[in-house]
Amino acid sequence: MQIKMIDSCVHIHNIAPTYVFRGINAWEKSFNAIAKLGNKPLILGRGKETIGLREQLSRNLQEKGLQTYLATLHFDCCEEDLQPIANSFLENGWNSVIAIGGGKVLDAGKLLAHRLRLPCVMIPSSAATCAGWTALSNLYSLSGAFKRDIVLDNCPDLLIFDYRFIIEAPSQTLSSGIADAMAKWYEASVSAGDSRDALIQQAVLQAKSLRDQLFLEGIEAINRPGSAAWIRVVESCGLVAGLIGGLGGARCRTVAAHAIHNGLTQLEVTRNTLHGEKVAFGILAQLWLEEKIGLNPLAGNARRDLISFFHHLKIPVNLDELGLGKVTITELRQVCCFAIQPNSDLHYLPFTVTEDDLLMSLTFTDYC
Ligand SMILES: [Zn+2]
Repeated sequence: MQIKMIDSCVHIHNIAPTYVFRGINAWEKSFNAIAKLGNKPLILGRGKETIGLREQLSRNLQEKGLQTYLATLHFDCCEEDLQPIANSFLENGWNSVIAIGGGKVLDAGKLLAHRLRLPCVMIPSSAATCAGWTALSNLYSLSGAFKRDIVLDNCPDLLIFDYRFIIEAPSQTLSSGIADAMAKWYEASVSAGDSRDALIQQAVLQAKSLRDQLFLEGIEAINRPGSAAWIRVVESCGLVAGLIGGLGGARCRTVAAHAIHNGLTQLEVTRNTLHGEKVAFGILAQLWLEEKIGLNPLAGNARRDLISFFHHLKIPVNLDELGLGKVTITELRQVCCFAIQPNSDLHYLPFTVTEDDLLMSLTFTDYC
């Protein structure tokens, strides 16, 4: 019997962490699984917001007989931060990495474990991204400008999604996570919407259902932390979005929304806004391009619906709200120049975009 070939490549997927512990007390339930991965874990974190949590979790593990060490990151996931810690591993005999924090801390922990070929445990302190799930790390410069993403050998060994930690995060991190998770649909439907591959088709369908669910329950989740809607929404942002990325694999790509995010990080003034806030603005700019340059009127409707939804979530919808009200044309061109590089995912848009088109999209995202 002959198989009708539509794609002769072999595709390799990193779909999910080996184990996911989720719920209230997920942390306590995970002790044995952590101990199995290594008896001398390095605990990685950053910022005063999580120092209390990191010290408490470190003490908990010490009580279970593990020898823990706390290390502090000072910047976004960057070589200058990672190299000194990597060098210390050999002399100290640490044998696993536990990262506690937001997306950039988790990215740093995954990347460190990947390079040292050590097991890795992810403990997100918010639902702002699905970084705890995926086999991908974003690398930044010392000053926080996006440089590139790095595909890792594996998804994390262990993801501990304890609601008690997530609920302590500022609500804006959840708004940001909602926007970042919604980007999965707006980008996957463009990069892989007509795919005939079974896994990719399912990933795109899930991305649509995730977007719909966040439209339905996102605002309730923000208003009622700890409710059933909140649990579904934080898990959608922190877990389901990652699952979609794993299922879709390398061919279910980001498109313009993340490319614009990457461009925006090149400006110092955007460093205070969250990843998902910049991605949200990128979604609106992408939809503007699809409507005005790709001549797709449905994209205009989608953009207007999102603007109203983002207003409720207090997500920036224009340059002014993004803190870029005083930005110069030269700086905006710098954003465009980065976002439109030849290897940028922006080029997965099904039409050609010029730098001037992109500049217009940044300026007119919230125009109806
Ligand atoms: Zn993202």
